[in-house]
Amino acid sequence: MTVKTILTEPNTLLRQISQPVEQVGELEKELMNDMLETMYAANGIGLAAIQIGVPKRVIVMDLSKEENKKLPMYFVNPVITKKNDEKITYEEGCLSVKNFFAEIDRPSKCEVEYLDYNGNKQNLQAEGLLATCIQHEIDHLEGILFIDYLSKLKKEMIIKKLSKQQSKPDRIIV
Ligand code: ZN
Repeated sequence: MTVKTILTEPNTLLRQISQPVEQVGELEKELMNDMLETMYAANGIGLAAIQIGVPKRVIVMDLSKEENKKLPMYFVNPVITKKNDEKITYEEGCLSVKNFFAEIDRPSKCEVEYLDYNGNKQNLQAEGLLATCIQHEIDHLEGILFIDYLSKLKKEMIIKKLSKQQSKPDRIIV
């Protein structure tokens, strides 16, 4: 397992639409292992393949709160088949949008069809944090970031600040 570099906005790759996986084989499993390792190293709870530059419809998540009780979840080709009208609000952040958080409304429940780590078809009924997290990650597969739900003005301001962060050299004290 390898910890990969996480791409950050602005980056055109993050805006790319990811392609479906034809078959869950060794390469895909290796990808999922690397993604999980990368996500844990960055203290995230979800990661989409495109965030490490791989445009495949693959997501990993782990919402467990206890450090020594890992509960990894793997989603290949996830599709939301149902959403309810009721919304829930979470303050969201993203490993690809450094140091910014915003309250986002999303459907509070959804159903997702996907293939698991072994390529088996699964169906998940999600609510609360799980529902929000899977919707955030599936957005990544469509090239959508949570800041896209904010007003144009606010989004532009954030992207401007992120560009400045990227262009700044690392600070060293010698
Ligand atoms: Zn994200």
